[in-house]
Amino acid sequence: MDRTIIKNVNIITMNKEKEVIENGVVVVNGSIIEDIGKSELLEKYAGEKVIDGDNGILMPGMINTHTHASMLPFRSLGDDLADRLKKYIFPLESKFVDSKFVYEGARAGIAEMLLGGVTTFADMYYFEDEVARAANKMGIRAVLGETVLNFPSPDSKESYGGIEYGEEFIKNWREEELITPAIAPHAPYSNDTEHLVKAHNISQKYDIPMMMHVAEMDYETEKYKKEYNMTPVQYLNSIGILDQNFVAAHLINITGEDLEIACKTKIGIAHNIGANSKGAKGVSPAVKMYKRGMKIGLGTDGPMSGNTLDIITQMSLVGKIHKLVNRDRTLLPASEIIEMATIGGARALNMDKTIGSIEKGKNADLVIIETKSINMQPIYDYYSAVVYSANPANVDIVIINGKVLVKNRKLIGIDIDDIIDKINSIKNSIIKFF
Ligand SMILES: [Zn+2]
Repeated sequence: MDRTIIKNVNIITMNKEKEVIENGVVVVNGSIIEDIGKSELLEKYAGEKVIDGDNGILMPGMINTHTHASMLPFRSLGDDLADRLKKYIFPLESKFVDSKFVYEGARAGIAEMLLGGVTTFADMYYFEDEVARAANKMGIRAVLGETVLNFPSPDSKESYGGIEYGEEFIKNWREEELITPAIAPHAPYSNDTEHLVKAHNISQKYDIPMMMHVAEMDYETEKYKKEYNMTPVQYLNSIGILDQNFVAAHLINITGEDLEIACKTKIGIAHNIGANSKGAKGVSPAVKMYKRGMKIGLGTDGPMSGNTLDIITQMSLVGKIHKLVNRDRTLLPASEIIEMATIGGARALNMDKTIGSIEKGKNADLVIIETKSINMQPIYDYYSAVVYSANPANVDIVIINGKVLVKNRKLIGIDIDDIIDKINSIKNSIIKFF
């Protein structure tokens, strides 16, 4: 038995009843949550190893349902330029992105996510093996997909090289406990029908997620209107690739009919409000999606798009922006936002049977938010304190699969100075390019 008792915490369980347990106890056995209850449980498990939560808020680990962590060395570059994807990001990537870049970028991104309480992230990029290697080594749970594009990419001289790489990647990583491999066509407009169907076949063959940017760009909407007289969602549905394994990032420019399709096909949704607002892309109808019981989680998008990789920042933005655009402060109470950040994200990635809430038998992916700092005081409502008072620096302890990875707000066994040095040496080569 490898038991750890977490005591002196106020637990946001995110179980079906959204139970909150004050002065609660969680018992972790190996990688699994064995028991949960009030402080009386301490007697039953007397003599076991104890973590004192110091009256903090214990919540399920947060899930970042959409990012490109390895883009971190590009963060803060060209933030306010128009059409950045085609004029800036793609050329920069073809010049600088290699396996070392991806590995070091992933390490930095993962370090930031761990320190911010993210215990699972979904990522799509190039050299995805390097992201998997970094994730596995650092102990974070990850859903990882190789990007598929209709032009040569940093790890493929051929267009659509991501399909072949992607299938090899899936075979190489599918047995790893913390890694869920996926396939990730970049977007409808950057893939043709044949390759989208191919990617979907791979997703079906291995029963793995297929992740894609959908209905994000205005030119994307125009293209499908002009060529097919359809929306991107209607087009993807017409070629038969929307299903429960499909995870759509963004879904900003969608119609009522698109919402019906998304609902019926049971696709997962990654809602990236920070990146969408900074990129002036628009506000997705996430409130409608949530109210219809769709599988919706929160994402940061890449560090060049949203600039931060933690989900606490996203939660606050989700609340504020949806309330603002709808001019209704009662929309999306904080508990619903935390639902999206945890079990909602797990649903979107089809992982809700094993993660996303603090319940017996689930994986022990847990976060303690400290409540001693001035910005956390006072607390009348734990949900509200996490969504609107907290910032990532309040994340005190992070546990993934039963293993403590962050304690006293510091990474354990990871040399953060080395990570920062490596990122800065990449930055120094990028800066010479300009
Ligand atoms: Zn993205």
